[in-house]
Amino acid sequence: MFRTFLLKYGEIFLKGKNRYMFEDALVEQVKRAVAKCDGEFKVHKSLSRIYVEALGDFDYDELIDALSSVFGVTAICPVLVLEDLGFEQLKEDVVKYIADVHEEKNFTFKVHSKRARKNYPLNSMEMNCEIGGAILDAYPETRVDVHKPDILFYVEIRERIYVYSIIIPGLGGMPVGTGGKAMLLLSGGLDSPVAGYMVSKRGVKLEATYFHAPPYTSERARQKVVDLAQLISKYTGPIKLHVINFTEIQKAIYELCPHDELTIIMRRYMMRIAETIALENNCLGLITGESIGQVASQTMQSLNATNAVCTLPVYRPLIAFDKQDIVAIAEKINTYETSILPYEDCCTIFVAEHPVTKPNVNVIAKHEENLADCIDDMVKRALEEREIVEIE
Ligand code: ATP
Ligand code: MG
Repeated sequence: MFRTFLLKYGEIFLKGKNRYMFEDALVEQVKRAVAKCDGEFKVHKSLSRIYVEALGDFDYDELIDALSSVFGVTAICPVLVLEDLGFEQLKEDVVKYIADVHEEKNFTFKVHSKRARKNYPLNSMEMNCEIGGAILDAYPETRVDVHKPDILFYVEIRERIYVYSIIIPGLGGMPVGTGGKAMLLLSGGLDSPVAGYMVSKRGVKLEATYFHAPPYTSERARQKVVDLAQLISKYTGPIKLHVINFTEIQKAIYELCPHDELTIIMRRYMMRIAETIALENNCLGLITGESIGQVASQTMQSLNATNAVCTLPVYRPLIAFDKQDIVAIAEKINTYETSILPYEDCCTIFVAEHPVTKPNVNVIAKHEENLADCIDDMVKRALEEREIVEIE
């Protein structure tokens, strides 16, 4: 029965010019989301509201799922749109709407009327009373509760009349495109896809870098990362994924540096390379899935050593999260099942049996000098030979 959907957003926080930027970005993201649904839709902005209108056949569940994946939308309200055929007809239509939409009638309610057209014969107070009375007459099991109603019936008199009471929660956050771009270090694990999702939720567009080590890591491991990027792109929009062959660099580190520092030195080269790609692509920061104490390379000392090679800010949205909290988000955004597939990651080959947990930055930097003769060429080659996968 619904063909029109009203999208709510956190407008009270927005003022002046920012508001237009926010709304235009949101309209663009909503258009992107509905373009992936079956059917044709019109997305438009009217009087600081965003509406999605289905122009023909469409799948309700598919559309709601798409709109529930747009950052910036706080609620989705399916709206019944009526022609203005007089107030008596409106009351009948509201009663019929309730018959269709709210099967269980034992609820408390309040009517919230609003006139965008001041020439309407009744004012909003009168409308509230009259429509409320009609509902009570038609459904005697209902009761009015103006303070904490179970259901709020919105009746808005505009060019046409809008009636709605269903409020489906959206994701909140900010529309992608309002916050610049960042480079996500995306591995096949649980954490980094969640980290990318979280930063993107604040309006940030993503690019991603993945390091693999063929033939030590398999094609399936690479595909898993492409699949993860695809899964989060449902929320974040298109992602340019840079795939870097890290084998030669990893082998050099293995041959020339102390084994207990392998992971840290490797992580430092990942950060350096990701930062180079980030700067080339106008990214304003790096994102990782690191969390304090999760593994040896994520102690405060290790994070300090990894961070030291970057000048761009490194965003670590999971820094204080427990694993179970990360898992809960991974499940919500549907990356969990893919992340737990058991393929080799380049971090899990060439690992030391006893990695340092309290590396000293100066000592690490000293040992990296062992790579001086070869590393620049290797990094250059890795960058030149990178593969770029456009997600979406
Ligand atoms: P994740 O679950 O995200 O893989 P993790 O718990 O396995 O994280 P690490 O392997 O120490 O932790 O990696 C820490 C962070 O470094 C990751 O969250 C990710 O951002 C980045 N990272 C690790 N390995 C890679 C890789 N092969 N390619 C790109 N980024 C990586
Ligand atoms: Mg990992």
